[in-house]
Amino acid sequence: MILKDGVRMNGVSHELIIAFIIVNEVFRYFDYQFVVTSVTDSKHSNKSLHYSGNAFDLRTRHIKDSKMIDSIVNVIKQRLGKHYDVILETDHIHIEYQPNF
Ligand SMILES: [Zn+2]
Repeated sequence: MILKDGVRMNGVSHELIIAFIIVNEVFRYFDYQFVVTSVTDSKHSNKSLHYSGNAFDLRTRHIKDSKMIDSIVNVIKQRLGKHYDVILETDHIHIEYQPNF
């Protein structure tokens, strides 16, 4: 797992750290670098879970094959389960912890 320059982790939730571990395993399996591009830094929408340390973004631009990105997203979704949302954006994957009890 690589942190892009300027990524801030202050106040990151335990649940997000679990997600880092699992996503790291998935990227290792697919043999791509896992680059976190934002956690609590940067500008996000007003109610974004980034600010509370419950969301992060990761890079997809080094994965040229869009079907490969889809596969990675599907495996991450499967492995993180229902308490996490995994959203494929145009230039990154957004992952947030939002429990559904
Ligand atoms: Zn995000």
